[in-house]
This record gives sequence, C-alpha cells and structure tokens, in this order.
Amino acid sequence: MDVRAAPAPWERPTPAGDAGGGEFWAAAAEGRLLIQRCRACAHLQFYPRQLCTRCGGTPEWQQASGHGTVYTYTVIRQNGARPFNAELPYIVAVIELDEGPRMLGNVTDCSPEEIAIGLPVVAYAVLAAEKVGIPFWEREHPGTPIRRSRDTSAS
Ligand SMILES: [Zn+2]
Repeated sequence: MDVRAAPAPWERPTPAGDAGGGEFWAAAAEGRLLIQRCRACAHLQFYPRQLCTRCGGTPEWQQASGHGTVYTYTVIRQNGARPFNAELPYIVAVIELDEGPRMLGNVTDCSPEEIAIGLPVVAYAVLAAEKVGIPFWEREHPGTPIRRSRDTSAS
C-alpha cells in the first residue's frame, strides 16, 4: 500500500506495540497491510490474537492485498477531542478485506453523502512515527458515481 507522510504535527494517538501489534504497525510503515493466517488450518483473522479463533493453532502474519469493500460505516459528526474535532464530519468504517477478515478504519476521501456499503476501497498508510504506519482507506475508483442500493435511477 502507498505510504504517505503524516500532516505535521501528528496529533492523533500513536499506537503502542502491545499484543503483537508492533509488527502490524511497523509493516504498515513499510507499505504492507498484515492479517493473521493460522499455520494449522489456514484460517485468516484480524485483529491479531495469540491463537487461531477456529482451531486454537498458532497464527502467523500474512500480507493482505490492501483491497476491500465498505462492510458498514458511521459518520462522526460530534467529537470534542483534538485533533478529531478539526476533521468533522469524518467516516469510521468496517472494511471487509478481499481476503475475508474485517478491519476498522477511516475512509478519508468520501463525504458523508458519498460513502456507501459495498464501496470498493484501497488502503494507504500514514507515517505517525518511526516504524509506525496507520492504515487508512480511500475509494479504489475515485470520481466514479456511487450507486446506492436504494438508487432506482438506472431502472
Ligand atoms: Zn486454525
């Protein structure tokens, strides 16, 4: 995935490397989006865990494509905390990766009127600190009309 410089100064919380997450953030800083794959049964999962949620086996990291679709989302219109209050309104979405697992993140190039379930998105990383990349999402096909399920104009 594309790696971009953070807006200066970076005011969002910077993730700590707990629960094995340090590898996730470090890989994102290098442009790699990681999920976990079980060594025993090949089950894919995210967020990172010590055990496979299907069989209890030991997961290892696997690089994901960075492509997915919006599974669901919400538009945040009120947040009094810096720096988020300067970004209102913004979109928090659950992204279903092409590989299957779902990942929470911000979709940054959509207005509240443009975001839609099923929208194809692609990940990019913002460098929050040395060896800490934060994945964000944007439309895979910017500029194309967004068709909503309730849109009957084409029929
Ligand atoms: Zn397993």
